[in-house]
Amino acid sequence: MTDRKLPTSLIHLPGAPDRRTVNPPIERASTLLFETEETLYGPKPTYGRLGLQVHRELEEALCLVEGADFAQLAPSGLTACAMSIASIVRSGDHILISDSLYGPTRRFCERRLASMGVTSTRFAPRATDALEGLVKENTTAIFLEVPGSLTFEVSDTPAIVRLAKERGLKTVLDNTWGAGIHYRPLDFGVDISVQALTKYPVGHADAFGGAVLTRDKALAGRIGATAEDWGLSLGPEDAYAALRGMRTLPTRLQAHERAGLIVSEWLQTHEKVYQVLNPALPSHPDHAIWQRDFSGSNGLFGVILKPCSKTSLDKMIGSLSLFRLGFSWGGFESLLIPCGEQLNRMDSDWTAQMPGPLLRLHIGLEDTDDLIAELDRALAHLTE
Ligand SMILES: *Cc1c(COP(=O)(O)O)cnc(C)c1O
Repeated sequence: MTDRKLPTSLIHLPGAPDRRTVNPPIERASTLLFETEETLYGPKPTYGRLGLQVHRELEEALCLVEGADFAQLAPSGLTACAMSIASIVRSGDHILISDSLYGPTRRFCERRLASMGVTSTRFAPRATDALEGLVKENTTAIFLEVPGSLTFEVSDTPAIVRLAKERGLKTVLDNTWGAGIHYRPLDFGVDISVQALTKYPVGHADAFGGAVLTRDKALAGRIGATAEDWGLSLGPEDAYAALRGMRTLPTRLQAHERAGLIVSEWLQTHEKVYQVLNPALPSHPDHAIWQRDFSGSNGLFGVILKPCSKTSLDKMIGSLSLFRLGFSWGGFESLLIPCGEQLNRMDSDWTAQMPGPLLRLHIGLEDTDDLIAELDRALAHLTE
């Protein structure tokens, strides 16, 4: 069975028991019932919060995808990020966080962790050489996201892991963009990989979920204890949605990748577009690192427009109908948001180098001819 390819294994999970239905049942349970007093206290799961068959099969699918040995599920991607970092720090520690981390994760570090006595310093995701200078006596971990949210900067993960190992630091990487299919941080020696299942794994914009993955048994114990102490669990319906999504994840991702490239390449040649931020394009500044470390891309990328007025941008966005306005991504539908105000970078470099507004596009599973025709009509509104 080990020589099977990933898409096959995700459909025929080796650990799934024989049963009459293709899918595991959704068991809605807080209380589990026991035949005898002796079994009441073990073996686990002895309580619904620890998850049941759907959760076990989802964990198995995630371990396959990421090459992990242990998976801890979380109620959302953000809780998975928070849980992973909370599992490896204690009061008095200092951590380094990428300046292009998902905004709410930076907020967790800078507000919640800070209130618990853990300080953090942001680092520029591309400035690998400068990172060593930021390591302090009490630094214990580095939190990366590759490529980073909104700007799609690709960090040199192997180089950062090398530094971390030399200095005895743990590394955590938010792998939501790569989804484990196109990027496997644990293969590079990253200690913990984190995913928002809400995005491509669920794939239909109708459920939340998060996962924390590792090969390290001791770390897995600490992550499990964090979930236990905070009482965090993923609801069975959401776990089911994520497991169902995992079956078609490689296939859907291929389609998003193909469409994402077609639309990116088209946008890149458009006269109103200043730059397309998609690491799969040869013109992207980090394309070489992306090509070395990733096996593919997806439908999410950024676009920096040439200077234009707010009025014409509003007209452009207002004219869209296939591209809907909304947060999150990874579903079957195309989305677009202006996202300059979310940037909140430590230095003004990013905003300074953007001549016009920053948009984030998610290319869904619609036909690309229709999407391009709509973008073409919409961009024509940028007349001033
Ligand atoms: C969406 C997202 C999250 C958070 O996921 P939720 O399930 O919405 O909490 C975390 N990291 C990245 C990179 C994301 O895009």
